[in-house]
Amino acid sequence: MDKEIGFIGLGNMGGPMASRLIAAGYQLTVYDLRREAVDAMVAKGARAAASPAEVASAAATVLVSLPDPAIVRKVVLGADGVISGAVIAGTKVKTVLDLSTTGATAAREIAAALAAKGITGIDCPVSGGVSGAVNGTLAVMLAGPQALCTTLEPLVKNFGRVFFVGEQAGMAQTMKLANNLLSAAAMAATSEAVAFGVKAGLDPALMIDIINAGSGRSTASESKFPKSILPRTFDFGFTTGLMYKDVKLCLEEAGAANVPMPVGQAVRGQWQRTFDEFGGDKDFTSIAQMVERAAGVEIKSRR
Ligand code: NAD
Repeated sequence: MDKEIGFIGLGNMGGPMASRLIAAGYQLTVYDLRREAVDAMVAKGARAAASPAEVASAAATVLVSLPDPAIVRKVVLGADGVISGAVIAGTKVKTVLDLSTTGATAAREIAAALAAKGITGIDCPVSGGVSGAVNGTLAVMLAGPQALCTTLEPLVKNFGRVFFVGEQAGMAQTMKLANNLLSAAAMAATSEAVAFGVKAGLDPALMIDIINAGSGRSTASESKFPKSILPRTFDFGFTTGLMYKDVKLCLEEAGAANVPMPVGQAVRGQWQRTFDEFGGDKDFTSIAQMVERAAGVEIKSRR
């Protein structure tokens, strides 16, 4: 496979993923609105582009890792977007992989608009957080033409374990939203359970040890509580705004498919409360602060 890759969106996830590709010997042309993120990648050997269209003119395969569907639409399909790179003389873009969480509706729309220009859109959302992006241990979900996905596997293997979800655009996005609903629910429920114990005098660190040795464990108890909530650093690397977006997208898509989600509705309410009280830019572990405030306790280890 061609070693020239375009990469747009060098944030918490895109930054480490782009770094892994550079370390694996790929030549990257990168773009981000944040100058410092671009400079950091240039220092590692990437070339900076002045627009998404310029990225698309430099590489046959362009990866994007952007916050939400509206931004992905703008960057891929908008003026000076990846798609207009296709009509600039000498352009090379043939495949666009979206690593962001955008939902199946957006993935289908974007793939159809790209197809009209002879470009294939692949949804390739990932799960496993910043540490997974740094260490190459993400779950990588691919949806699109199977033969092309097979060709792309050596590239995306650099991010973690690759799963082919299906041929239809959006199938990997549906998988990702189902996964994140569970992740969001585990954070909300674990926060409540621990606040309940703390109010009765239990040590939250001991509670988390017991939950992790028992049947209540999840990524919330195994990773988020020990790393960012019990030490009260609230810095896991994923914002409340992005988590709330994922739960909302899941419920919108489930609603359109006539799949009732009463538990999902309650989970969304808790993320909305966290968003309203702490702001979308705060780390998503602040849901524990929202819950402890309501319960009148502090989830702080006595160790
Ligand atoms: P982030 O906000 O840290 O990074 C997004 C990057 O996109 C930033 O560098 C920002 O400057 C850039 N950007 C925004 N608008 C742009 C534009 N118009 N043109 C160019 N660059 C632009 O977000 P993140 O945490 O890296 O998440 C990225 C995507 O991956 C999201 O869809 C998120 O839901 C998903 N995701 C995140 C995690 C996580 O743990 N952080 C895990 C799995 C999936």
